[in-house]
Order: sequence, then structure tokens, then C-alpha cells
Amino acid sequence: MTQQFDDSTLSSVTYNSNSNKMSEKSTDILVPITVAYGDGIGPEIMDATLRIIQAAGARIKTEVIEIGEKVYLSGNTAGIAPEAWDSLRKTKVFLKAPITTPQGGGFKSLNVTTRKTLGLYANVRPCISYHPYVKTKHPIMDIVIIRENEEDLYAGIEHQQTDEVTQTLKLISRPGSEKIVRYAFEYARAYGRKKVTCFSKDNIMKLSDGLFHKVFDEIAAEYPDIENEHWIVDIGAAKMADTPEAFDVIVMPNLYGDVLSDVAAQITGSVGLAGSANIGEGYAMFEAIHGSAPRRAGQNLANPSGLLLGAVQMLVHIGQGDIAEKVHNAWLRTMEDGIHTYDIFKEDTSKEKVGTKEFADAVIARLGQTPASLKSVKYEAGKEIKVKASPTVKGKKEIVGVDVFLHWTEANGNKNADVLGDMIAGLNVHGLKLTMITNRGLKVYPNGFPETFCTDHWRCRFQKSGETAFDYKEIIELLRAINEMGLDIIKTENLCTFDGEKRYSLGQGQ
Ligand code: NAD
Repeated sequence: MTQQFDDSTLSSVTYNSNSNKMSEKSTDILVPITVAYGDGIGPEIMDATLRIIQAAGARIKTEVIEIGEKVYLSGNTAGIAPEAWDSLRKTKVFLKAPITTPQGGGFKSLNVTTRKTLGLYANVRPCISYHPYVKTKHPIMDIVIIRENEEDLYAGIEHQQTDEVTQTLKLISRPGSEKIVRYAFEYARAYGRKKVTCFSKDNIMKLSDGLFHKVFDEIAAEYPDIENEHWIVDIGAAKMADTPEAFDVIVMPNLYGDVLSDVAAQITGSVGLAGSANIGEGYAMFEAIHGSAPRRAGQNLANPSGLLLGAVQMLVHIGQGDIAEKVHNAWLRTMEDGIHTYDIFKEDTSKEKVGTKEFADAVIARLGQTPASLKSVKYEAGKEIKVKASPTVKGKKEIVGVDVFLHWTEANGNKNADVLGDMIAGLNVHGLKLTMITNRGLKVYPNGFPETFCTDHWRCRFQKSGETAFDYKEIIELLRAINEMGLDIIKTENLCTFDGEKRYSLGQGQ
């Protein structure tokens, strides 16, 4: 697909390449944006979206790049050609249709790569009910999910470690948490929202989600004008799905945000209704929250609303709030008039079932109109949210132990923790001695339960008496001794204190 709009929509604004914003009341340059038509329903919803915003007078000039399935299948495991980055580097604004990531085969998710490469740390996903025009069990719902976009389990660091066990590393950083939480509070202030809620699972992941929650509490204290609260993600998710009117802005780590924004969008009526902005310091990407829905592709069926509302967020971002407003209000009017695609069409609430193209025509026909009873939108230009993480405070870090992970099964195929424990309990390298063995996190040696199911993946913790600090060289010597016993070492993790405080978890049952 190489469609490119011409320059005929010239108007009175200037593109400022430093701030990547339009300064209003200046002259004559279209804002260049990079566009990708994507896979599955992508080309159809992108055509519809561009047609609508162009008809509304968007002052943009598109550069089309190829990404996704075709690029993957040509042997590029990243799904994006090197020259496509040149366009993104130049325009700094990306309107992207969904793409299909081929399953398996070492293909990396292009969405994750793009978000991380361009530093798009904040994923903003408004999920709103359009009752009574779009059927929903939740007539009052106006939630903005702010999802951390660069870390958590999406670091994509995965390994098969034994015959039986695979691992994905969950990374949560202080600067990453600070940026997203601060972004959520700044967003609430900028858009007149009253409350920011944090979802985490820090009752289980005390260090990683615990850090996210701690940072939330610290930053919330700086915004006394905005109410704040924290929910454990499981009950928070249940509450959100049941009583969404109890929430306003919700900030969460990457995985929970990915899953729960689909839930939130779906309960407004369709996952096809929600748009998404991915915001970084120098770049921004706008998309629908849903995927490429390959089963619906090429049939003029898909709802282009998610991508269109993503494009509305893009227009606001580039300083064309006037066009964003025109498009959004015409879209709301179309919803009200009951012109609906199949995913939201219901006999009792809809008037006409239309395809993707006809839906776009209906929105275009309503440009300049506002909704009669739904609340019309008003966008002020230039609400740029800039946040910074505070400088890192370096703590006094000491090693007080090491977890050595082993791949081990007895010759007869049994996995008895006492057998392994008795093999290595005699090790004493500079006073480093075995203090426990866990299997999938549960302490199984000493004094394990015979009922416990064990895999071939063992964590063996070595410490000195009194948890005295020591040098890493001693770990190397310990590993040499374990290796000489013929044991298969998978990896190690140092047990550290920071400023004297233990910063590692105990074994479950320890
Ligand atoms: P999906 O979101 O593509 O679709 C799930 C179902 O939701 C569809 O079968 C359809 O019934 C409905 N649906 C989704 N969007 C719709 C729309 N605009 N209009 C009407 N109905 C719509 O999820 P999936 O089937 O799990 O994923 C398909 C592919 O999309 C996968 O390859 C996945 O990796 C990819 N994906 C891409 C992105 C992205 O590019 N940002 C996001 C999520 C998934």
C-alpha cells in the first residue's frame, strides 16, 4: 500500500521540528506523519481514518512505510525495514494500523520494539461508554488506562532453562515507574480528572510491583488536588469490569495495562471502539488498541473507530485540536445516529448496519456537526505533558549471598530435594554454605514435604553465617566447586543489601 495524500490541504500552521508541535497562527507547512497500513483489517481501517481526517482538513502530509507480516516473512525478524526508521526519525509522529506478529519462529513483536526504541513510555487508552447509543452493561464509564509501555514482562528476556522450565524476566525500574506514574497524575491535572488509581500485585511481587506501588504513593503525595488509591490488580480488575464508574484514571504496569485495556474497551461495547496514544519524550505513536483481526480482513466489516480515535489523539498532539474536535464530534454524532458497524450493531439501539467504508462516509457527512445528547468534545491545543524521572540515588550495595540455579534430575528420573541437598550441603567455600533449596519458589530443603511436586529446576541459596557481606570472587570459586561436582548450573542471582536493607525475597515457606 503506497497511498500518499497530496499537499492540497495547506493551511495556516507551522511545523516546529524541535518540539514536534504545531504552533498555531503561523504559516503554510503540513505536518509530516509516518503511516503504516498494517495487516488484516489494518489497510481498511487506515483508509477510512485517513479519508475522514483529510476531509476534516487535517494539515498533515503522510509518508507510508511497510511494516508487519510481509516484512517478517521476507526474513526480517524485527518486522520493520531499516529505512522505515529514517521516516520515523524524521517525522517523529507515527499513525499505525494493527499488525500481525507471526507466532513462534523467533519473530519479535514490532509493537513492543517500536514503543521501546522510540522511548514511548506512556500508553494512554481512554475507554468510554456511549450509552444509550452503543449497547453496554455499563452506561456510566469514562476510564483512561495509563499503561507503562517499556518494561515489565515485555522486556522480552526469555530462556528455556531446563527440560521442564522456561523463564521470562519481569523488570520494573524506578525511573520507568516514576515516569509513568507522574505522567498519570499530570494527565489527570491536564484533563480535569479527579482520581488516579494504581493497580499492582505487590502482595505477591513485593519487590517489582512493590516498587511500582511505592513510587505511586510517593508521587501521589505531590498531587494533593487529585484523589489517589491503590487496588491489588485481581480485585481491582474485577471491580473495574463490574463497576467501572468507580474509576477515573488507572495507572498500571505493562502486562496488566495490556490485558485490562482490552477488557475496559470491550465492556464499553466493543474492543473496536478504543484508540491509543503511545507517548515519549521525542516521539509519539497512535493506534487502535485492538489487533489485526485477520478473520474480519478484506470484508469491509471492521470498525475503524479505534484507529480514528487514535488519530484524534494524534491531531491533538500535533496541535490540530480544531480538526480533532471536528472529527471526534462528527464521530459521536454518527454513534448517536445509530450508524454502526457489525461489532456494535444491535437491533434495539442501532439504526443502520454499515461496512467500514460506509461508516467513514457517514462520519464525513457529519463533519461540522456536534452530538445532540452525548457530551461534545473540546480540545485545547498544546497540552503537552513532559515528565522526568528523578536522578538515581546510589545506595551502598553489598553481596550477602547467592542463589545458584541448577538443572538436576536423579539418574533414575526422580527429583528428590533431599538427595540434591545432601550432595551440596557439604560445600563450604570461604564460609559460603547451602541455606535452602527451593523448587518453583517453594522451600523444599531442608525439611521439605514429600507431597510437594518438584520440577528439574532448583534454586540453591548459599550464604555465610550472619549473612556477612563478601566479594563476588568467592561466588566464582563456589561455582567452580559446583561445576566440578558435575552439576548443571543454569544461572546465578546475587543476594544484595542496599544501605543495609535486604533486597531479595525469602523462599516460600522459609
Ligand atoms: P484482535 O484484537 O485482532 O481481534 C479479536 C477479535 O475482536 C476479532 O476477531 C474481532 O471479532 C474483534 N475486533 C477486533 N478489532 C475489531 C474492529 N476494529 N472491528 C470489529 N471487530 C473487531 O485480537 P487477536 O485476534 O488476538 O489478534 C490478531 C493479531 O493481531 C495477532 O497477530 C496479534 O499479535 C495482533 N495484535 C496486534 C496489535 C497491534 O498491532 N497493536 C495489538 C493486538 C494484537
